[in-house]
Amino acid sequence: MTASKEVVLVIEDELPMRRFLNALVEGHGLRVIEAATGREGISLAASHNPDVILLDLGLPDLDGLEVTSRIREWSQTPIIVLSARGMEEDKIDALDRGADDYLTKPFGAGELLARLRVALRHSRLKSSGPPQSAFTLGELEVDLAARRVLVAGEEVHLTPLQYKLLATLVQHAGRVLTHRQILKRVWGHDSAGQEHYVRVYMAQLRRKIERDPAQPRYILTETGVGYRLRAELEDLSR
Ligand code: CA
Repeated sequence: MTASKEVVLVIEDELPMRRFLNALVEGHGLRVIEAATGREGISLAASHNPDVILLDLGLPDLDGLEVTSRIREWSQTPIIVLSARGMEEDKIDALDRGADDYLTKPFGAGELLARLRVALRHSRLKSSGPPQSAFTLGELEVDLAARRVLVAGEEVHLTPLQYKLLATLVQHAGRVLTHRQILKRVWGHDSAGQEHYVRVYMAQLRRKIERDPAQPRYILTETGVGYRLRAELEDLSR
């Protein structure tokens, strides 16, 4: 337990939404600071160094995408964007600009708290020494240092690209990665427009690590956006 409460910056112009977020987040034992405009949000992000930022994409002054880019020029604080239904493109654009995750309005309390938990854990890890090299999720074990993958205790042999894909997902466990981000990280910068690589290799990887590749428990498809490797076993019960 930490002595001082972790701080969540909420950047949202609609008062009822701000109140809803404030009540939820404070009820979870965190401190909230609020901004009603993009400019105010950027300035509070700089002055208060929050642990997580909840950012509405539809703001009256600056576009939420612009706010994401501006904050990412100097801060790695996890950003969760809040987007309206039907704004798929903006959501993907925000993730490509460095946002960590998204929620589509309307969302439930459980969904928000699950995303916050992942973001806070990520925030803490970043500020606490060397990164962890071992990842466990249900029957899946990945040792990034030894480059070893086990499923139910049995070693699984992956091709170098399949391994790179899995390692990339492990490094971002709990968070969504867009097709473009996966392509860039696994295949490099010359791969733009080759989104089908991701689908093909994801299917291969699922066949090797999922018990039922048609109903994946570990690697989830975020329709129209990308993929998310679950971070926690407790997620599996949902
Ligand atoms: Ca708004």
